[in-house]
Amino acid sequence: MIVVMNGKASEAQIRHVQEKLREWGFGIHLSQGVERTIIGVIGQKKSGIMESLEVMDGVEKVVPILQPFKLSSREFKPATTTVTVGNVKFGGEKVVLIAGPCAVETEDQMLETAKAVKQAGASMLRGGAFKPRTSPYAFQGLEKEGLQILKSVSREVGISFVTEVVNPMEVELVAEYADMLQVGARNMQNFTLLREIGKINKPVILKRGLAATVEEWLMAAEYILNEGNYQVVLCERGIRTYETATRNTLDLSAVPLVKRLSHLPILVDPSHGTGKRQLVTPLSRAAIAVGCDGLLIEVHPNPENALSDGPQSLNFEEFRNLMADIRPIVQVLGRDL
Ligand code: PEP
Ligand code: MN
Repeated sequence: MIVVMNGKASEAQIRHVQEKLREWGFGIHLSQGVERTIIGVIGQKKSGIMESLEVMDGVEKVVPILQPFKLSSREFKPATTTVTVGNVKFGGEKVVLIAGPCAVETEDQMLETAKAVKQAGASMLRGGAFKPRTSPYAFQGLEKEGLQILKSVSREVGISFVTEVVNPMEVELVAEYADMLQVGARNMQNFTLLREIGKINKPVILKRGLAATVEEWLMAAEYILNEGNYQVVLCERGIRTYETATRNTLDLSAVPLVKRLSHLPILVDPSHGTGKRQLVTPLSRAAIAVGCDGLLIEVHPNPENALSDGPQSLNFEEFRNLMADIRPIVQVLGRDL
């Protein structure tokens, strides 16, 4: 539930309500708006609590959160959350570009890519060291060596990086190296993994599951938030539909919808969303137009030889062109790149 303090509530009254809530065993999330203060109450509802709160001085109303997702809902926290990774901020004015290959293959490949995408204007590097492949015979990633490559390249070039973690037992290992973690579509409902990530202090991208509803996706975010990690960025990456002409169906309607339902920043991944490099730039433009906070783009020095996801990867020139093509959309929306 949330406690809405009235516009004239004094500091002391707001403090008193918070003290009482803590005394009753609740956690608190304070949102101090210009007009009024809203106190998000974390914990299991007990009978009589709403009535007791309603009669306290300075309280305007007590509202139960009707959605099944609580901590991730905009009712609970009206202001958009910003998630910071080094000098990169998700959920602000800037549209954040994350770019890099599907998988870390060699140090040279990563170094070349990091330099090229940074030069082109990307703010963050990506690359998978642990790859959740559909086939057990496909390249599975360089694992720890991949993390070491990512770390040394990112420090050399001066760009932070995000990489996927697939196993709850490896959360600590990946977090030791990475600036930001990623939970992939296949693991969106790996609740043990989500809980482990919730226990650490590291920003995370939570991709939408292959066939997850928006509600299931926000419930997955709830698992991470509920453990105390509030640094969650969502990522729409396409869902499975009857259409096979594209790899997935990129659900851009989810972007403005999630923005209404949740305070968490949201990215779009048109690479996995379409599976076709010719569609990446048009869908990037559309994603920005519907209000996403950033893009995740697969870029490879030589997509024809990529060990995974070559058909949807852009080469460096195509990525530079993408940057030029999205700029007018960013500008017309009064945002920055
Ligand atoms: C990825 O980002 O490399 C990836 C595997 O994506 P998804 O989990 O969306 O399939
Ligand atoms: Mn990929």
